[in-house]
Amino acid sequence: LNYPTAQFMTSAPTLALCPDDTGAEVAFAGRSNAGKSSAINALTQQKALARTSRTPGRTQLINFFSVMNDEAYRLVDLPGYGYAKVPETVKLEWQQHMSDYLRGRFSLRGLVLLMDVRHPLTEFDQMMLGFADQRDMPVHILLTKADKLKKGPANAALQQVRSRLKEWEDLVSVQLFSSLKRDGVDTLAQRLDQWLKT
Ligand code: GDP
Repeated sequence: LNYPTAQFMTSAPTLALCPDDTGAEVAFAGRSNAGKSSAINALTQQKALARTSRTPGRTQLINFFSVMNDEAYRLVDLPGYGYAKVPETVKLEWQQHMSDYLRGRFSLRGLVLLMDVRHPLTEFDQMMLGFADQRDMPVHILLTKADKLKKGPANAALQQVRSRLKEWEDLVSVQLFSSLKRDGVDTLAQRLDQWLKT
């Protein structure tokens, strides 16, 4: 699909308020600061399609983007997670919305899970993998900011994540990614095509 044609559709605070659950979509999730907005902007070649939100406690919305002017093909930007200052009640509410969406959204074909290559597989990441596993949904992991490591250590990190997820290798794929260098954008687009075009 031609991802640079992506356009903002709508935002929703809860599963119930999401657009019609028809067609196909892929969702992007990650801890805040993992590089999710930068990755969506690199994929779509748009400077500010996905916005970085640095305000803790700001209303956390699920953002929908249509691809190729067709609302049957969607990219979904899930709210970031992990602002230190957010109260526990807000964290629990967020967790509930994520769980509702990831488990209940019929048109969701796959999850792109972003992790800083230097800090992969946090508790949050494992919770997201758990939601995906519960419904046998494929997950594609982007190890982001790969440009921050030299080639050797970056590849070592990749192999380590792959080996830690060995038991899920049928459902989980992993790649290095750098929005800064645009490394890995084509591989990501191919994976999204596999999910959205079938
Ligand atoms: P989000 O909170 O997950 O949406 O993360 P952002 O996309 O806003 O990125 C968080 C920070 O990491 C920003 O300062 C970005 O400039 C930086 N960043 C994101 N992607 C990359 C990358 O590929 N390489 C480098 N070096 N920095 C990046």
